[in-house]
Amino acid sequence: MPIQSINRTVPPFSNRVLDVNESLTVATFARMGELKRGGADLISLVAGEPDFDTPDNIKDAAILAITRGHTKYTAPASGLPELKRAIAQKLKRENNLDYDPSQIVVTCGAKQVIFDAVVALVNPGDEAIIPSPYWVSYADQVRLMGGKPLILKTTEETGFRLTPRALADAITPRTKFILLNSPCNPTGEVYTPDELGALADVVADAGIYVISDEIYEKVVYDPAEHVSIAAVHPGAGCRTLLVNGFSKAYAMTGWRVGYGAGPPELMRLIAKVQSQETTNTCTISQYAAIEALTGTQESVETMRAAFQERRDLIVARLNRLPGVSCRLPQGAFYAFPNVSDLYGERVSNDVELANYLLEAAETGCVPGSGFGSGDHLRFSYAASLPMIHEAMDRIEDAVSRI
Ligand code: PMP
Ligand code: GLU
Repeated sequence: MPIQSINRTVPPFSNRVLDVNESLTVATFARMGELKRGGADLISLVAGEPDFDTPDNIKDAAILAITRGHTKYTAPASGLPELKRAIAQKLKRENNLDYDPSQIVVTCGAKQVIFDAVVALVNPGDEAIIPSPYWVSYADQVRLMGGKPLILKTTEETGFRLTPRALADAITPRTKFILLNSPCNPTGEVYTPDELGALADVVADAGIYVISDEIYEKVVYDPAEHVSIAAVHPGAGCRTLLVNGFSKAYAMTGWRVGYGAGPPELMRLIAKVQSQETTNTCTISQYAAIEALTGTQESVETMRAAFQERRDLIVARLNRLPGVSCRLPQGAFYAFPNVSDLYGERVSNDVELANYLLEAAETGCVPGSGFGSGDHLRFSYAASLPMIHEAMDRIEDAVSRI
């Protein structure tokens, strides 16, 4: 009998899944792809991924892994021992942090380790503190596990920084962790060591965990420097899950390799969740990741310098638009201009403005509300200089017609 003709009530879907949003960045990226395939002359400043190719030495390591037959599951599933050792050495060398390789879990992108940590930490009703603007996935990952995201709004006035006072005031007996993201997607802000130290004092006093998403560590612009909160305060450090990965620093978004490093018991639980979920991330990608960490780092600096030039261009051009103001990001590759002065009769919010720019300027960006701020739009500047020039010419013209 054809399956459609079985006559019975369809069982309801999970409320938890029905209640969360699809990732706005992933969905907008998919929409851009569809429009482009349909022939639209579109400039997409949507994707949160380097437009550079993965460096050749990394690709070659993956090809070698295949020819050598490294095409099976890894044992243990939590990551190739050689890769865990390379990560532990990196964390010592660059971040001044001591982790035993057994405290490291290699995952299918940084996104998975964050989600697995949420699975490991959150009971229904538990609270997670998330400073806004935030990366789109944090709050919904918490909701998916029945937790409550407690969004703490920050604005341009405080440099999009969470203050220790605001953090202390938000902590309740149900607080499990705070999610920190520095350098930040979407604002590009980078916390200073002193600011991290002050937040870490509050964290250590309260005894909550920190999930520290440091995926943009390598995309930082002088004079800002990246420091891990785990390194500034031993009391907070022993409760920190440091999250990092290969997507941004090595242009490896499609390879799906990230990792977490943290306290032994938490890491055991994260490994347990992963063992029931994906087993291990792609073995070939893990061999590529070993090369990324141990081979030449030349391309990391080349990409960083290119992003800096693009940042300077896009921010200068955005600030020339009437009704638009944009802080100079210190890291990552996003400009996050405040566009609220453009709201009026023609467009009344960020979603309408993003749609207007898509139609009138054939340029794609992501509405800020996906990141917790309807006053902003997010433009990725992981695009060539000529493309940014062209996009800004189009936007200038479209904005003048609002
Ligand atoms: N954290 C942030 C802040 C991000 O922008 C991204 C982008 N994808 C991720 C985590 C996840 O990265 P991935 O899963 O590709 O390692
Ligand atoms: N993190 C990137 C972004 O913010 C890639 C898409 C995603 O995983 O959210 O656009």
